[in-house]
Amino acid sequence: MWGLVFVYLPVIIVGALFDCLQELLLVSFFVHIIWHYYYLKILNNWLWNSHSTVLPHGKSEWEHAFIGIHNMQQRHRKRRNNLASVISRFREGSEALPDAVVVFHKSGEIIWCNRLAQFQLGFKWPEDSGDNITNLIRNPLFVEHLKSSDYDQPLDLTSPINAEKMLEFRVMPYAKHQRILIVRDVTTYRQLDEQRRQFVANVSHELRTPLTVLQGYIEILGMQSEAGSRQEKAITVLDQQTSRMCSLVEQLMTLSKIEGAASIDFDDEVNVPAMLKQIENEAHTLSKDKKLQLNFAVEDKLQLLGDEMQLRSAMANLVYNAVNYTPKNGAIKVIWRACETGAYFCVMDNGDGIAPEHILHLTERFYRVDESRSRDTGGSGLGLSIVKHALSHYDSELNIESNLGEGSQFSFIIPNSYLL
Ligand code: ADP
Repeated sequence: MWGLVFVYLPVIIVGALFDCLQELLLVSFFVHIIWHYYYLKILNNWLWNSHSTVLPHGKSEWEHAFIGIHNMQQRHRKRRNNLASVISRFREGSEALPDAVVVFHKSGEIIWCNRLAQFQLGFKWPEDSGDNITNLIRNPLFVEHLKSSDYDQPLDLTSPINAEKMLEFRVMPYAKHQRILIVRDVTTYRQLDEQRRQFVANVSHELRTPLTVLQGYIEILGMQSEAGSRQEKAITVLDQQTSRMCSLVEQLMTLSKIEGAASIDFDDEVNVPAMLKQIENEAHTLSKDKKLQLNFAVEDKLQLLGDEMQLRSAMANLVYNAVNYTPKNGAIKVIWRACETGAYFCVMDNGDGIAPEHILHLTERFYRVDESRSRDTGGSGLGLSIVKHALSHYDSELNIESNLGEGSQFSFIIPNSYLL
């Protein structure tokens, strides 16, 4: 305002004195507009054509405007540099990773990938930028995994460019609408795992024949020994220990068989109620001395599709454990019934229960809560591991609830898709 007063007050005074106010005001307006237009031109030129960071000279309010814009530019430049250095640090970090990294948009367009992604997945950079990731990794399992939006578990697939390589794909939500894919070469781990499984399966298989021969001879010796003699006692111990070894070998073989089965043929029908009837009879025989109360509540027509041997191993192990770890006169209840999400199987007992710190480890191989007690029952610590692996083929998990001194409950649900 003071600027305007400073310019136009002298014009008004001079115009009034010499009686030419209108003309003089018109001329001064015109000069004023030209003056502003001149600085506007300088500003435009500076913003659009000049790449100079040097501030143009301006007078009065134009000087303020130039300084303001210049400061704003400086702030933006600083922010852009910071952002660029963050991105370059991220890229350098990703390049240093021993895994392939791909950043892509939620809808699939590739935003960036590191050099390992080019080696392991056959991506071309920058040519593949903007392409949909499912056009480059076409495996239907991967496409389904991306669509599912449930990225808790990694996915193991063969490499899209080398069928001999096994890769682990892990997808994670990243930024607002982006995903990051981390791919690790797990060929060696999987090979080692397979070799370990094969080794255990072969050793168990090779041990079975000599053990059967031993058992045969021990039986003959037992028949020939005198009742109450030291020889008879020794033969009884021998018999018990070879039986234990036989059951351990059987369990090891079952576990390797279940672990090794890549997929199950889900065309076979499994008559679960009939199978549970057999298990019930065996459980009665096993629990005869303990006078356990066994209660089987089985829904008659509830049958499944899948592998009978695996389901039998899972269910029988849980029932036999309940029999083994429930003291005399205890009660065991087995339930097999339909529920909202599938078929529900549960074994409840009122035995000694398991302390909370053990529950998470129960499905580990050879894990036993109380070694001496397990030895008495002939347990090897493999039973629940077999259950866990068998259930994994049915997209199911073992649920364990237990309270010390009150009893335990082992249950699982087989999803609806496997019901007959
Ligand atoms: P094991 O062959 O020794 O029974 P499992 O893997 O079947 O091995 O079970 C692991 C451990 O879990 C057992 O050693 C036992 O201590 C405990 N356990 C399993 N089932 C029960 C149960 N119903 N009640 C109490 N403890 C149990």
